[in-house]
Amino acid sequence: MASNLTWLTPPTGFLFAPPVPLCGHPLPPQLSFPWARPLWLNPRPMFELLKTDTSSKARLGRLTTPHGVIDTPVFMPVGTQGSVKALDPRELVEMGTKIILGNTYHLSIRPGMDIIRAAGGLHGFINWPLPILTDSGGFQVFSLAKIRKVREHGVEFRSHLDGSPLFLGPKEAMEIQRHLGSDIAMIFDECPPHDAPAKEQKLAVERTIRWAKECREQPRAPGQQVFGIVQGGSNPELREQCAKAITALDFDGYAIGGVSVGEPEPEMMKAVELAEPFLPAHKARYAMGLGTPAQLVELVARGVDMFDCVLPTRVARNGTAFTRKGTYAIKGGAVKADFGPIEEGCGCFACKNFSRAYVRHLLNVNEILGLRLVSIHNSHMFLDVMADMRKHLAAGTFGEFRREFIAGYVPTRKVLASRGRE
Ligand SMILES: [Zn+2]
Repeated sequence: MASNLTWLTPPTGFLFAPPVPLCGHPLPPQLSFPWARPLWLNPRPMFELLKTDTSSKARLGRLTTPHGVIDTPVFMPVGTQGSVKALDPRELVEMGTKIILGNTYHLSIRPGMDIIRAAGGLHGFINWPLPILTDSGGFQVFSLAKIRKVREHGVEFRSHLDGSPLFLGPKEAMEIQRHLGSDIAMIFDECPPHDAPAKEQKLAVERTIRWAKECREQPRAPGQQVFGIVQGGSNPELREQCAKAITALDFDGYAIGGVSVGEPEPEMMKAVELAEPFLPAHKARYAMGLGTPAQLVELVARGVDMFDCVLPTRVARNGTAFTRKGTYAIKGGAVKADFGPIEEGCGCFACKNFSRAYVRHLLNVNEILGLRLVSIHNSHMFLDVMADMRKHLAAGTFGEFRREFIAGYVPTRKVLASRGRE
């Protein structure tokens, strides 16, 4: 019953409420870091395509947002609940983070929008001065929530926490993102699992297009960009239909969704290859929820500019390190008396100061510092690979970098199996 849906339903008169001035919002003095200097939107175009690689579709670009300029290709650490797990903002900035993610679904359940609005938006609440991209909550509604009914203007569902009845649709998702004050908001889409039947994929594309039109009409925070999302699974016709309809709505950038939903690597690459030709060159492209370092290199080569992935911090909590040669378990006995860094040649805080033997010890005795150090290394490694790609794109040597990186990187067995090579 709609009358029971107490959360996310806009209060009466909401549309006439003045927008919260989030983009230029001064941070409370006690929270301000010296580098916390919010920027006003400058007259630059939002995305500038600076250079295209001659050996692939890789692009060097620059994205301008109210809270700062982002060089692309870029990796965006994931702060689903308003925190990149185990890392603080100072560490994130020091390792070269230019933008982080937040999530509409999670943040609007806890702590709730009243708290975040009272803090002046997400930037003020979490004291992050640089750009934030917020996901719309569509992915979580379709993957986490229970007992849902898809309606014309959104989804009725029950909270994954306490089962309370909730409603989220394009209007509500954009309203929440407006109050979060993210620099980039995502449209509310339907993201079916990769093995969903063709009929379900088609319905998801139709709903995504309809909801994208509704999102387009909603008010935004000052300077906030809105990105459209292309769905369609690995079906060429659906990807084309969705990409053409979404790009016709002229969003500020475009995401390729329906990836990172359990599909094997070849299907992920195919989904990106099917959508990419229909995306305008002068707008940023974002592949949602991807991937391993080698996959990031291959996806950049396929024309993608922006990535987010929980992998660096998620596997860190299991004691797994990413390196340019692949992953390894630090907890293993092999590094018990190895006083080298987590990765030779790495310039991160963990590698510059601590040995594998020490990090292994911390992990084995469940000291929090252990997972923090691996999280620092892994996140730094992802950001560093992106910085290398930008450097090589600028120098015109991306093709050589790609060949060498892929040749040196040993994928996990799971990825190898999905390529049909094992
Ligand atoms: Zn390191």
